Amino acid sequence: MKIICIGRNYSEHARELKNEVPTEPVFFMKPDTALLKDNAPFYYPSFSNDIHYEAELVYKICKNGKSILPQFAHKYYEEITIGIDFTARDIQEQCKKKGLPWEKAKSFDQSTVIGKFIPLSKENVQHPLQFGLDINGNMVQQGTSSDMIFSIDQILAYVSQFITLKTGDLIFTGTPAGVGPIKIGDKLTASLNNQKLLEFDIK
Ligand code: MG
Repeated sequence: MKIICIGRNYSEHARELKNEVPTEPVFFMKPDTALLKDNAPFYYPSFSNDIHYEAELVYKICKNGKSILPQFAHKYYEEITIGIDFTARDIQEQCKKKGLPWEKAKSFDQSTVIGKFIPLSKENVQHPLQFGLDINGNMVQQGTSSDMIFSIDQILAYVSQFITLKTGDLIFTGTPAGVGPIKIGDKLTASLNNQKLLEFDIK
């Protein structure tokens, strides 16, 4: 499986990092070795001094698709969770300055945390989706799917023009404003529509 992440999908977050608001989805990929799940702890890596959290809505692809039309995109996912797209912001800044790819800053081991997946049925999940991240009990990020520049359906239609989506692939849909650093000893808790789906420690 692969992990596809959308960047700059909330205009306030694009502005907080002094990036332009995009006119088409910006995406990058992470390998399966980046996954961290089952509320396992995240071990702060030695190569960075500025790891940032980015809480995001994460969709799981449920069937293979190529060049998906936007009106059929909803058939390609059934489950959702909250994830954290950990970013070594110091390394990312160096890469951006040199015009180099971001993989070193984004795709390292454990950089992609996922919570418990829940079915995205009408009875289970109210729209627009509200999600949030707490650190040590203090709310640090709050987002709503209605603020996404590109909806999940637009994202799937766009990405699948270039890359075939396969069952089990994960789509990280971008983070709202409020990103910031983590430190050893922090406890991160993420919820979707007030349902806690993720809780883990930074060690
Ligand atoms: Mg992100």
